[in-house]
Amino acid sequence: MPETAAPFNPSSLMPITPRPDLVFVRGEGAYLFDRQGRRYLDWVQGWAVNCLGHAPAAVAQALCQQARTLINPSPAFYNEPAMELATLLTRHSCFDQVFFASSGAEANEGAIKLARKWGQLHKQGAFEIITFVNGFHGRTLATMSASGKPGWDTMFAPQVPGFPKAVWNDLASVRALIHDKTVAVMLEPVQGEAGVMPADAAFFQGLRALCDAHGLLLIADEVQTGCGRTGTLFAHEQYGVEPDIMTLGKGLGGGAPLSALLAKADVACFAPGEQGGTFCGNPLMCAAGVAVMHSLLAEGFLATARQMGAQLAEGLRQLSREFGLGEVRARGLLLALELGHERAAQVVTLACERGLLLNAPRAHCLRFMPALNTRAQEVTQGLDLLRGVLDELR
Ligand SMILES: *Cc1c(COP(=O)(O)O)cnc(C)c1O
Repeated sequence: MPETAAPFNPSSLMPITPRPDLVFVRGEGAYLFDRQGRRYLDWVQGWAVNCLGHAPAAVAQALCQQARTLINPSPAFYNEPAMELATLLTRHSCFDQVFFASSGAEANEGAIKLARKWGQLHKQGAFEIITFVNGFHGRTLATMSASGKPGWDTMFAPQVPGFPKAVWNDLASVRALIHDKTVAVMLEPVQGEAGVMPADAAFFQGLRALCDAHGLLLIADEVQTGCGRTGTLFAHEQYGVEPDIMTLGKGLGGGAPLSALLAKADVACFAPGEQGGTFCGNPLMCAAGVAVMHSLLAEGFLATARQMGAQLAEGLRQLSREFGLGEVRARGLLLALELGHERAAQVVTLACERGLLLNAPRAHCLRFMPALNTRAQEVTQGLDLLRGVLDELR
């Protein structure tokens, strides 16, 4: 550790999650380095945030240049990076207008508000948004209420009302909840926190038809699945479904806090004064988003990411066979491995000690979220490290 390193005194930080006694000081592509100079292959990547890996040159350069130019003129004025990013997003999606925010939860709050506003204008004040058991939409009060994580209904009671829960991949359970106060259905195309549970094609397409039949909005929370994570720019493209509203976060800023709420023209009904935020659409973060979008849209980028995802999925299936584990679920570079036991946390801890950073969204499964520009040799290295860990725990 360098002489100048700050002391290790985490007690002044709120203990919001169990953390290992490690302090990371540097990141480069697929790797993180701690204060002792140890290197870790990172398959968490800030929870699927660093789509271009750690400290990518394109994002670092965009941030540095924008920081010297204009950081925040306030959301009351136009700025160039926000307009450029909004243009890129609308040009490459089915949506017409964008509102920028700083976190996924904030974008989802905006989506909820937009749907309720639309309900006031077009559906006699209908406000209920059907969401899903085990869904995850963020940690504000409304997005916690929209989430279906066990225990979250009472954690900070009372909840925000208006989020009846349907059963994942069960169209009849959605249909049964629709009544005159229903305004929208909101889903993750792949439930991430639930352990990478993709929507069935018939289910997602059936939801679109159901929403059309009842005049409801379909909201896709692509905070985790968007920005190339599942192999296409947005996951809903793979289903041939066009949502009315979409939210983005995580990868959009390449590690910088940036999120977006996108809507079709006939749904984008906020009047001035109804939506905003001090940091919303600031040029510093939007410049990072522009750099990310240019990288994702570069010739061959997503095709290579899909190849890496296929290689990792195949490797995980091989490990599953070798160690008698369970199912591998994979969409692009968002993958999960069912362990067949409840010791995922133990696997994560040992993997960290062996230099591989993993995430366990549930006690029985591991989730893999490498950088989208990860290389074949890194995938192989990670699989070898994981094999060693599984072998030790056998
Ligand atoms: C991470 C996530 C969120 C919340 O994003 P934050 O930036 O943590 O607020 C919302 N929805 C989904 C699907 C997510 O994966």
